[in-house]
Amino acid sequence: VVREPIGVCGQIIPWNYPLLMAAWKLAPGLAAGNCCILKPAEITPLTAIELFKLIAEAGFPPGVAQLVLGPGPTAGHALAASLLVDKIAFTGGTVTGRKIMAAATANIKKVTLELGGKSPCIVFADADFEVALEYAMFAIFAGQGEVCSAGSRLLLDKKLADKFLPRLAAASALIVVGDGLHPETEMGPLITPAHLEKVLGYIAAGRDEGAETICGGHRLTDGALAHGNFVAPTIFVNTEPGMKIVREEIFGPVLAVQLFETEEEAVQLANDTIYGLAAGVFTGDAGKGLRVLKKLRAGITWLNTYHPTFNEAPWGGYKQSGLGRELGTAGLDAYLETKQININLRPGRLNWFGGV
Ligand code: NAD
Repeated sequence: VVREPIGVCGQIIPWNYPLLMAAWKLAPGLAAGNCCILKPAEITPLTAIELFKLIAEAGFPPGVAQLVLGPGPTAGHALAASLLVDKIAFTGGTVTGRKIMAAATANIKKVTLELGGKSPCIVFADADFEVALEYAMFAIFAGQGEVCSAGSRLLLDKKLADKFLPRLAAASALIVVGDGLHPETEMGPLITPAHLEKVLGYIAAGRDEGAETICGGHRLTDGALAHGNFVAPTIFVNTEPGMKIVREEIFGPVLAVQLFETEEEAVQLANDTIYGLAAGVFTGDAGKGLRVLKKLRAGITWLNTYHPTFNEAPWGGYKQSGLGRELGTAGLDAYLETKQININLRPGRLNWFGGV
């Protein structure tokens, strides 16, 4: 059995982590011997342009790694639909992923998809309180929530609520929001005015549906923030499982808190989503932690931590969070075809048809 390159691979990446996403796609694709055509998001092409200058400088044969710039519905769609492209690897939203999968059917392309999430961060009452508090904040507010694996739902043991939520709200209100280039900044602006509007729309929907904010819930416009897309770290309580802020990926600094009373209820709430990208569990009982992690329908899980990512470990989602895996040996396999080679060591007459 031998592994061979698939051929020409189209690679479409999102605007968050643009350089990292380019590396996750190009490194295994090229190492496996394919030719790769990368299309960055139209709003974040600059790091890819710089990377491709280095690729040219490094002496890659012409055409082995190519960069295509342009909008998703035209340049991206052309890659996904082209009969000359053998594989499409996509990272982005689930709605786009569905379109890419459909476009890829014409020549039965190999498809890998890394899509969105609504990942739960589950805190049991026996967790280390301070550790869980800090990670619950880090899970959602790192990178202002523009992170596919963001812990955008906090599933909190009801017994902890009275003590945990006021501390969470107070600490989150102290997050220093500002220019991402200032060293003291802890949370930066959202990517575009359009994305700002989308996130503010979700906050309004949360209020309309009856949830309450215990932190943030508004745009920040004071002083230097007046001309940017800044949103205060926002925490919703009194949520219901059917609310938009609980069900849909917001991709901003908005946390929906859901309370549970039993381990079974925590698992049920955690899995009550079309997504299945990531999940974190905080508990002082390692046996319980592993038991719960195994019941979660998510591809990336963490016990007493949130967000660490290892190049060696396969990255990807269950359910509508994706198809296939990146990173690790699984990530390399996704760029290889498998061929069986059967060799007859003693060729002789077959004697199947009598007339031969
Ligand atoms: P997006 O789906 O809008 O765009 C992603 C890429 O697809 C862009 O390059 C865009 O130009 C292209 N595109 C858009 N429409 C297309 C079409 N019809 N055909 C082909 N290509 C098309 O996503 P985004 O807003 O740039 O990124 C945010 C999303 O990415 C979030 O949902 C996030 O969860 C997801 N994401 C997932 C992972 C992961 O590892 N699972 C990592 C990062 C981001």
